[in-house]
This record gives sequence, structure tokens and C-alpha cells, in this order.
Amino acid sequence: MVLVFSDDNKLTYELLNIGSKISKELGEKLIALIIGKSYDALAQEYISYGADNVFIVETELDIFKAEEYADLLENVVNETKSETVMIGSNKNGKELASRLAGRLDAGCIIDCTNIYLKDKKLTSERVVYSGNAIAVEQFNSKPAILTVPSKVFDPLPKDDKRKGEIVKKKFDAEKSASKILKVQEMKTENVNVEDAEIIVSCGRGFKNKEDIKLVEDLANAIKGKTVGCSRPIAADLKWLSEDHWIGLSGHKVKPKLYIAAGISGQIQHIAGMRDSGVIVAINKDPEALIFKSSDYGIVGDLYDVLPKLTSAVKEKIG
Ligand code: FAD
Repeated sequence: MVLVFSDDNKLTYELLNIGSKISKELGEKLIALIIGKSYDALAQEYISYGADNVFIVETELDIFKAEEYADLLENVVNETKSETVMIGSNKNGKELASRLAGRLDAGCIIDCTNIYLKDKKLTSERVVYSGNAIAVEQFNSKPAILTVPSKVFDPLPKDDKRKGEIVKKKFDAEKSASKILKVQEMKTENVNVEDAEIIVSCGRGFKNKEDIKLVEDLANAIKGKTVGCSRPIAADLKWLSEDHWIGLSGHKVKPKLYIAAGISGQIQHIAGMRDSGVIVAINKDPEALIFKSSDYGIVGDLYDVLPKLTSAVKEKIG
């Protein structure tokens, strides 16, 4: 069996795509796992998006805790005899995958950007050395545990006619030695670059924090409204919060349109936005790396280009 799980439902829909491809090639069933109280409607959704069966572990746990979730997942893997386990690669998922691998003495590959069968062996690809190389790895043992980041795969088209079995089971999670004392929400600006359809991003080419308004104006004009940035803007200068940070160590985005102004195009930034539909770069250096990854390039001073672009867009689309 191929088992997919994430505590983020959106990521589960994406896992169901690659899970469905691999399970078909292996001639096995695809099971989506839900850990929680009562989620029949969600289970049906997972079936519509590709799951053959849904396994619901009913538990009173109301907060994610890696030790306890790993214990529950181990029970599910054994019960369903799953030999391929795909987990959503967010913070919780990565911790869960490695703990599960430790418990099952299994191989584990984190942050896979592609998964396929080669010579009948489960094979995965992941970006290494800050985006400068791709590691191609195969599993020699079972079960195989993989984590997949968001936006690597799109969900399959929804098919409401699909039918599948929903199994509910109760397992008692092993009591863990650690205790959660307090959960503190991270301060955010409620910016969601990961789901944005249009992003206008700024980099070190900007001289002052106030100048970011030029990017906001263009974003508003094209009704995108979402501003992104390179690492120095969020991490070093702190002109924008980390919600806006795009790249290898920031958010991975896949908008229809990505406009990069004053960004040089180092591999670590490209790693986060290379899957964008159309990429437009504005840079005063004609040799800037960003132009190699762009569909359209404007060589010019952003202080000159951005206001002109904004007014041209306003004129065109109102
Ligand atoms: P710079 O490289 O300084 O580029 C500024 C650009 O602006 C230049 O190309 C310049 O020609 C142009 N410019 C200057 N003035 C103007 C003007 N007036 N008009 C037009 N153009 C102008 N970076 C990320 O972005 N995201 C990440 O997630 C990330 N993760 C990293 C992880 C690791 C492990 C490491 C080592 C690095 C990471 N980095 C990341 C940093 C990355 O390597 C680069 O340093 C960073 O992306 C550079 O940001 P930048 O392009 O804004 O600045």
C-alpha cells in the first residue's frame, strides 16, 4: 500500500497526485490517513482527489505532537502493511517522518522534488548544495518514507464519482516523555505568498525601506497585491516580515506571474520561485543571473522602470 499523510489538508491533496501515480505503477492501493476526531466529509474529499481508501485514526489528541503522531503512524503503517509512506514536508511532517523512520528502522528521504520508479525501485530527487545539484536516491529497504514539500505537485482534478472505503480505528498513542507547556502563535502579517497568483518581489536593489512602496503600487495595479522579497530584505534588513521571504530557506511559490525587481537571481532565490508561470525581471545589470531564469527581462533602473510600469498597467487595465 501507498500511504499519504499531512496535517495540512492542502498538502494532502498534492500528495494524492504523486501517491496515485506511484500506487498505480506498483499495482497497490492508495490510502490517505486522517488523524483526528471525526472527518467523514474530508475523507470523501480525499477519495474525490485520488485516494482509494481513507484510514481515520480517531484520537483525542488536539494538538500535533511528533512523538505521539509517530506512534499512531507506526500502528497505521503496520496495520495497512504500507511499504511507501509519503508525508507532507512542513515542519511537523519532517519531524514526524524522521521519527517514524527511526521507529521502523526505515530509509527516509526529506524534501523530494520528484518521485518515480526506476528499475522497479522507488527513486526520488531532491535539491542539495543550496540548489546547485540534484541528488537522485533509491530505497534499498521497505518501508520507504518520503516527505514532499508543498507546490511540487498540483492536486489531481476532483472526481466526485470516485468511491472508496473509509476505515476508522482507535489507537492509544504512547505517552511521550515531553509535555507542551504553551503554544504561542507566530506574529505574521497574514500574507500568503504560497497561494498568491501574482507576486511582485523586491531585493537588495532597493535603497530604502520606504521605496518598497514602488513594488506595492505595481502589485496593487495588477490586482495581485502580494509582495515578495529576497532573503536580505526579510532576514538582514528586516524591511518586510518573513511571510514575504521567497527562496530555498523561505517560501516556495508558484504564482502565474512573478515580477522580480532589484533581485540578482542567486540559486537560493530561484529555488523558491522557479516554478512560476511567467517570470519578469527588472535589473540594471544586463549580466544579472535573474535574466537566465526569466521569460521577460527589463534592463533598467528600478526607480525609473517601476513607476512607468505601474502607470502603463493602470492605463491598460484601469
Ligand atoms: P543582491 O544579490 O545584492 O542583488 C541585488 C540586485 O539588484 C543586483 O543584481 C543589482 O544589479 C540590482 N540592482 C541594484 N540597484 C538596482 C536598481 N537601482 N535598479 C535595478 N536593479 C538594481 N536568498 C533568497 O532570496 N531566498 C532564500 O531563501 C535564500 N536562502 C539562502 C540559503 C542559504 C543556505 C544561503 C547560503 C543563501 C540563501 N539566500 C537566499 C541568499 C542568496 O544567496 C542571495 O544572497 C540573495 O538572494 C541575494 O538577494 P538579492 O538578489 O536581493 O541581493
